[in-house]
Amino acid sequence: MSKDKLQFLSHVSDLLTQEIDTTELINGLKVLLSVFAEVKKLNIFVFDNVTNTMRNCADSWSIVEDSSDIYKLYESIKNQDFVINSKAYKLPTVISDITLKIDSLCMPIVKDNKDFGIIKLDFESDTSVNMEFLFLMKIFASQVSLKLQNIVLSEQSKINVEFHDSMKNIAKIIETQYELNYIVPIIGEMLDRFITDHLIYVFLKREEELQLVWPKACKDERIYEILNQLTPETEYILTNGDKIGAFPLVSEEKELIGCIVARSTLDTLSKRDISYLEQLTRQSAITINRANSYSKILQYATIDALTNLNNRRQFELRLGQEIATTKRQNNPLCAMMIDIDFFKKVNDTYGHASGDAVLRGVASIIKSALRESDIPSRYGGEEFAVLLPYTHIEEAKIVGERLRKAVESSPIPINDEDSEVKSINVTISMGLAEFNTQETGEELFERADKALYEAKESGRNRVCVN
Ligand code: GH3
Ligand code: MG
Ligand code: MG
Repeated sequence: MSKDKLQFLSHVSDLLTQEIDTTELINGLKVLLSVFAEVKKLNIFVFDNVTNTMRNCADSWSIVEDSSDIYKLYESIKNQDFVINSKAYKLPTVISDITLKIDSLCMPIVKDNKDFGIIKLDFESDTSVNMEFLFLMKIFASQVSLKLQNIVLSEQSKINVEFHDSMKNIAKIIETQYELNYIVPIIGEMLDRFITDHLIYVFLKREEELQLVWPKACKDERIYEILNQLTPETEYILTNGDKIGAFPLVSEEKELIGCIVARSTLDTLSKRDISYLEQLTRQSAITINRANSYSKILQYATIDALTNLNNRRQFELRLGQEIATTKRQNNPLCAMMIDIDFFKKVNDTYGHASGDAVLRGVASIIKSALRESDIPSRYGGEEFAVLLPYTHIEEAKIVGERLRKAVESSPIPINDEDSEVKSINVTISMGLAEFNTQETGEELFERADKALYEAKESGRNRVCVN
């Protein structure tokens, strides 16, 4: 083989060993081919046997349309060495000195003796090639095949890692969480993030009916139609040309407790999507079941398991008592509503377990900044309500401001195993209101909540008074 041909092959090997993405790789090969052999275009297509479609490697693995000639080409190239100007050839065993005029040259990409794609070269007009060139291209094709196999494998394992992370995260949520109103949106977001080309909907059974709990709306009537067909025995239901899939959530007692629906925005749901969704749904059902039994156990509890503050039920009980005492003795009483700023970002950036750690951290700062007689509670999610007996609003403002500053200046440890970050800082917004004897406890906290809203609107990390 002549020197320039060897040089071409060695440039190709160099390029194939570099850590670059598929688009850069194909562009690099295109340049080498155009310098070496007047190649005008290079395309690489790989057959995806999960979706039964060809994918265009140079165009982010997009699906090649059904009508494209690429599918015919793929059929005609099977068990051949080349398709030259639309005619299939086997390579002769001896190199002869025949030359051919060439417009296009296609070669199969092979894995374990099976075809799994096509390399297609288009040449400048009036190019001729000889047999030796075709031998060389066969070597080129086998080098590229090997590389593509590796790329496909590593894409697959990347998805697998993300999948196992999602499973792990969904399993982890419930350790100390039992309010479905908080758990379900988090599950919904995790699924949504993992299954990117689909819209995800979560339904839960409430009053004998499957009701949408995540996201806020679902306008697709077809989805509601499938819901009626679900039973606890259903594996899953596919409709709308396999673009909508419904996966039932089933309790340990084999009752239907909800459903996860995926609606594809692009392709039909592939076997792989379905398998992922089945497993994630099963994990979500376990998580939701555990939360349900946990909440039953905690029905008589007074303490929130995550933060060790009073829970919502206990808060309401104490509010009633404090209002009664205040009215009887004519003492002052203040209400404080606290909400962590941009908390969603903490979950999104550091993961849900870190979010929980922050909730615990903020709760402990709240506790230590208050007096013994104050009554802090976890109101829900990342919101806290505090009752301040024997306190006028001026005093409450001082307490509130001290608390706000304490949170702002305290790094909270998050122990995130997957990241370098060991602690983070967050801020809180706060609304205050002083009780007037005309109102109920509920109305008092409504006013504190209004002030909190104002604190958010006017820039966060601040205390506002109603
Ligand atoms: P804002 O400053 O307006 O309050 O922004 P935000 O991101 O805090 O507001 P939003 O109310 O939209 O987000 C609250 C998030 O808190 C949504 C939910 O995922 C998360 N969350 C609620 N409960 C819990 C919990 O128990 N643990 C964790 N990790 N996250 C929770
Ligand atoms: Mg909130
Ligand atoms: Mg918030």
